[in-house]
Amino acid sequence: MKSNNVKKIKKIAVLTSGGDAPGMNACIRAVVRTAIHEKLEIMGVYQGYQGLIDDNFFAMNSRSVSSIINLGGTILKSARSEEFKTKEGRKKAYDNIKKHNIDGLISIGGDGTFTGANVLSNEYDIPVVCIPGTIDNDLYGTDFTLGYDTANNTVIEAIDKIRDTAASHDRLFFIEVMGRDAGYIALNAGVAGGAEAILLPEKETPIEELTKLLEYAAEKNKTSTIVIVAEGEKNGGAYNVAKKVKEKFDFYDIKVSILGHLQRGGTPSSADRILATKLGYNAVQEIIKGSAQCTVGIRGSKVVTTPLSDAIHNTEFKLDADLMKIAKIMAM
Ligand code: ATP
Repeated sequence: MKSNNVKKIKKIAVLTSGGDAPGMNACIRAVVRTAIHEKLEIMGVYQGYQGLIDDNFFAMNSRSVSSIINLGGTILKSARSEEFKTKEGRKKAYDNIKKHNIDGLISIGGDGTFTGANVLSNEYDIPVVCIPGTIDNDLYGTDFTLGYDTANNTVIEAIDKIRDTAASHDRLFFIEVMGRDAGYIALNAGVAGGAEAILLPEKETPIEELTKLLEYAAEKNKTSTIVIVAEGEKNGGAYNVAKKVKEKFDFYDIKVSILGHLQRGGTPSSADRILATKLGYNAVQEIIKGSAQCTVGIRGSKVVTTPLSDAIHNTEFKLDADLMKIAKIMAM
């Protein structure tokens, strides 16, 4: 990990970037209050990396983050900045960072946010520490990302509600959940919601295999059947899967529900608030220590750091193989 021992850190900035996630506000609060406790000046940046370019900085104090621990979204707003991907854009960003005498930056976001931080701190002398914030849980260097637990709970609540109506009409429901190329939400919420089948990006499920599972469910006289479809699975999403199944079993009363962006919102769970608070606190400590170009994450109950380049380049995610096996047994 790059170390920045020379410079004493006096003033830092915090931003949120990429997709928003519940827990980002709790994390901003932790960063701001830890910085103040450590006698640092702290600035917020609106709209992520675009805000660095547009000089959208403002001074923060402990009251700037009052009553936000319970709020979804991000008070700092977020943005996807194409300009930051250019050398000229990052030069403007760095000039503004210098103009405000910022000695270190904390970026909260997903893999794109990590990449942006890495590129900036490779080009310029600015220590950056990143905090994993995305509902998808698809980041290396942490067991859990901010927002993942809340999103799981949101999906479980939706499955429970859909189950009520599915059971009342003997219906087959396909529920599509977020997670991009990772199946964490699908697997975990599927198990917790008692799904009869779960289609994951990590494991191809041919339609014939699914129809066998559905035949099995029908033999067992199930009054409702719920199939969770991860958005990144290989059959092309819940509508496509439903169409293919309908071609084979036209007697089924099939419905599709795409949960979409409601999975990104809502008040953060207790687990997300606590994780956000721990990671926010530790990110400031890492900046003070002189760490640069790293992420802070959680492994078991321990806060750990990972070099940004490792976090960016490790993109293989391993789902819990035991849980995948158990999910099938529970669907009997
Ligand atoms: P999510 O996982 O929710 O999509 P994310 O952080 O991956 O979040 P992105 O939009 O991919 O979201 O990335 C956030 C921002 O990071 C981009 O809008 C861009 O400004 C910056 N960024 C991404 N990739 C690069 C890159 N290669 N070089 C410089 N900046 C980048």
